[in-house]
Amino acid sequence: MSDCLFCKIAAGEIPSTKVYENESVYAFRDIAPQAPTHILVIPKAHIESAAAVDGSNSALVAKCFEAIAEIAKAEKLDGGFRVISNCGDDAGQTVHHLHFHILAGKKMGEKMV
Ligand code: 5GP
Ligand code: ZN
Repeated sequence: MSDCLFCKIAAGEIPSTKVYENESVYAFRDIAPQAPTHILVIPKAHIESAAAVDGSNSALVAKCFEAIAEIAKAEKLDGGFRVISNCGDDAGQTVHHLHFHILAGKKMGEKMV
C-alpha cells in the first residue's frame, strides 16, 4: 500500500529503530513506548488488521510469532512479556497495517483477559 506508514517503515522509506528483520517480517521500537521494552512486529506485506487474516496470508502471521519468540530471546525478556494487536476502532487501532506490540520490562497493569 503506497500510503501506509508501516509499509514505508518496512521498506526503509521512513526511518525506524530496527530490532529484527527477515524476508517477511520487520520489527522496530515503538516511537511512544508504553513500557521499558515496546517493540512492534509487522509483516512486510500489507495486511490491514487481524480481521483481514485468511488462508492467503496467515503464514505471515505465523512468521510474526516466530519472530516474536526470537526477539524475546534476543532482548532477554525472561521475566515475561505481553503481545497485543489492536483491531479496529473500538480497540484503538491507529495504524491500519497489522502489527503486534511486544511489551515488557515492567509488571503489567490490570489484565482484560
Ligand atoms: P495501534 O494504536 O495501531 O495499536 O499502534 C500503533 C503504534 O504505532 C503506536 O504504539 C504508536 O506509538 C506507533 N507509531 C506510530 N507512528 C510511528 C512511527 O512513525 N514510528 C514508530 N516507530 N512507531 C510509530
Ligand atoms: Zn501497510
